[in-house]
Parts: sequence; C-alpha cells; structure tokens
Amino acid sequence: MSKQTEFSNKNILVLGAGVSGISVANILQQLGAHVILSDAKSADKIDKDFSQLKATGVVLALGNQNEELLDGMDYIVLSPGISIYIPLVAAAQGRGITIMSEVEVAYRLSNAPIVAVTGTNGKTTTTTLIGEILKTTGRQVSVGGNIGAALSDQALETGPDGFVVAEISSFQLEGAIKFRPHIAAVLNLTPDHLDRHHTMAVYQEMKERIFTNQHENDYLILNYDDIVVRGMAERAPGKILYFSRQQRLDSGIFVENGTITLNWDGKHTDICAVNDIQIKGGHNVENALAACAVGYLAGADLEDMAKVLKTFQGVEHRIEPVTEIAGVAYYNDSKATNPESSIKALEAFPGQIILIAGGRDKNTDLTEFMQLIKERVDHLILLGEAQQRFAESAAQHGVKNIHNTPSLSEAVALAHSLAQPPQVVLLSPACASYDMFNNYEERGKVFKDLVRRLG
Ligand code: ADP
Repeated sequence: MSKQTEFSNKNILVLGAGVSGISVANILQQLGAHVILSDAKSADKIDKDFSQLKATGVVLALGNQNEELLDGMDYIVLSPGISIYIPLVAAAQGRGITIMSEVEVAYRLSNAPIVAVTGTNGKTTTTTLIGEILKTTGRQVSVGGNIGAALSDQALETGPDGFVVAEISSFQLEGAIKFRPHIAAVLNLTPDHLDRHHTMAVYQEMKERIFTNQHENDYLILNYDDIVVRGMAERAPGKILYFSRQQRLDSGIFVENGTITLNWDGKHTDICAVNDIQIKGGHNVENALAACAVGYLAGADLEDMAKVLKTFQGVEHRIEPVTEIAGVAYYNDSKATNPESSIKALEAFPGQIILIAGGRDKNTDLTEFMQLIKERVDHLILLGEAQQRFAESAAQHGVKNIHNTPSLSEAVALAHSLAQPPQVVLLSPACASYDMFNNYEERGKVFKDLVRRLG
C-alpha cells in the first residue's frame, strides 16, 4: 500500500480503539501517515491484542486523554463511538485541526462510486440487500460502514468499476466533510439517539449530511410515506427518486396491485410481487423498495433483482427463520431490543404466534405492543428483568396465557410443548439482552442452538 494520498506524511490522531478505529489507524499508517491511536479506556480495559498494529508503527495512547495529544496533528479521525462534542474534539476544533469520521476517510480513499444508506431503522437489512442486488451486475461490490468491516478497508479494496455500499449512521455523519455518495437513500426518521444528538433537529441535520454534498447528477432515494424524509427533497442537490409502500407515485417506485412497480424516466415496469419477497413484514417491503431503487439506478437487470428478492433471507437475528419442527416454524428476532421493533415482527405474521419476550427493560411505553399481542399472540412467554412489568401490562390489556420463565432454555422448552401448527414460535424480546447475555447476537445464537436441539 504505497499509494500516495492526501494522508501520506500527515500526523493523524485516531480516536476510539474499536473495530473501525483500529482498521483506519492501520490503513493510514500504511499509507505513510504518522498515526497515534488513542482511547480513553486503559489497555487493561480493552480486550484486544494490539501487537500487530504496533508492529506497523502506529503509536498507542490508551487511558487518560489530554490535550497534548493534539500537538502537531493535521487530522483527527473519529470512530463512530466518539462524539464530536467531547472536550478533546472541541479543543482540536479550537486549534483548527481538521476533524473527520472514518467514513470521510473512506470516501477520500475510494475510487469506486459510493452507495450510502441511512435512516433510523432498516439500514443493515437494506444495505445487505443492495449488496446482493449489485453483485448480480458482475461488478466488484463491497459492503461495509456500520456493518462488519470498516468502510475505509472496503474502499481501498474496490476498483473504479465496482461499488462501495455503505451503511451510514448519524454518528458517522457528524464527521462528514466532503462525503458524497453517488446514490444515497434515507429510509425513515424517528426519534433515536437523542442522548448523543440532543435534539431531533440535530439528529435530522446529521442524517441530511448524507446528501448535502451530492451533485445534480447524483441520486437521492427518499421514503415518500415518511413526511420528514419526503421533505428532505427541498434541500437535496441531486435527482430524487421516491419510494412508497402506501401509494402509487407519478414518478418513483411503489407497490401497485401487490407488485413492486417502477415508474421513472418514461419507464413503467413491474419488478416483483410483494408476496414473493422472502424477508417478512411491511417494513421489509420498504427496505426492498429502497434496494430496488438503488439497483435500478446502478444498472442491475430487473429480473436478476427479482431473483434476489425471492431468495434473500435477511440478516441474522432479524425475523430470521431458524427451522421448522413438526409443522411449527421458529423465528429469531433477537435484534428487536425495543417494543417498536417487536411490533414490526408481530405485524409480519397474521396471528397464532407464540411469543418469547423480555430481557433488560427499557421502560418504554408498552400500550401499542400489548394491544398487538392481544390480537396476534396465543401464548406470551416472558423472561428476564422485564418479566413483571410486561406481565402486568399484558394482563391489563386483557392478554391471556401469560407464562413466566426463569431462562431462555425453559422458555424455548415451554414454547415447544405448547406449539401446534399453524402456530409459529417467535423470539422478539422488545428488550435489551444485557441482563442475561453479552449482546443481542449472543442471545439469538443461544436461541437458535436451543431450537435446533429440539429437532
Ligand atoms: P438498523 O441497521 O437500522 O438497526 P436493521 O436492518 O438491523 O436496521 O433492522 C433492525 C430492526 O428495525 C428490525 O428488526 C425491525 O424491527 C426494524 N426495521 C427494519 N426495517 C425497518 C423499516 N424499514 N422501518 C421500520 N422499522 C424497520
């Protein structure tokens, strides 16, 4: 990697020694920069082996972060976990040092056009689906950002004829400067992460940075059904392609007569019947619409696109089909860590659900969730710290068949003993996992193991 870039010979402080911080430190050092990687946590609190990184020449500064770190720096690169408002970053701003996110570095290093997806919900699913659709073009496609690998790694690996598909969070956009995706999509916008952005206005402003640098020959895909997202068109420099699940559009991509239909630029064509889309639920129809819009603009063949929609199984832990036992299908929706997400999962099934829920309670309002449980759930199996509040709320809403269990294994065993076809068993906790697991991924994997052992 001897490529000459604007980072070569520069002094760069990378903040945050997580996956993307470590990757970007490594890349910048190899591009000839002098890199310090700093994290407020001390070495004994970070469970990572830095020996390889040190061997490349990156200097580690772990623990106490003081302003001396800024001396002589040309750039500060922020990991997504580091807020732009921390005092060290404010001090860097005061000194006139350029501050950018890892995504900005990726953009500056990329030779390929970038496709970027943001929104409050559905980013990972849509980004992954877009990756699958674009692969059908035969061009090189790499997928990264908020998912798995750091985007700068992907950007370097991808040639000019390929695509870099990026899942972009509002955090990553805090440090965007020139970041300019050729195709951007905003899926939806609801209150979230207000602990970091403080107000909805700032959160929205961060999301809008995904398109502010676009040119008139770039594209912005917007959800017509979301009033706030629809209104972003007023501030967008690129061409707008709307998608809608709820209505026919004069120009855009939408559902008509149960079929995803494109009506754009003089072309009117059907793409795929909604019932043929593998990923379940109305929310996933929206994700599919956005992905088709990108696919079309990027030159994917429409039939190839339909094939992907008919086979794409979704991303792990999101209404993920596990197996079928004696005619009963089991689904893992461990990613549903709040009631809104679990509502999406319940809406994806017509009824006859055996729901396993609970975990670390986020103390959010349960009204809508419980109303839907009353309509669609035959047995509610509860576990974890939220058990009592959930059980009380369920009873207040007239839910029958409420069961309390001490562990996920007993919950699965109970669900198995109760379930009769055509019922389905769904783990969709509506809670965080930390009372019983390290994270939602572990919870989902344990669930899948338990279910597979039943078979
Ligand atoms: P993100 O990466 O934005 O967190 P995911 O694709 O991982 O999104 O989906 C997380 C959860 O968000 C899903 O389990 C589902 O409950 C909900 N969700 C997914 N897509 C949408 C959507 N288009 N609109 C609303 N909610 C969605």
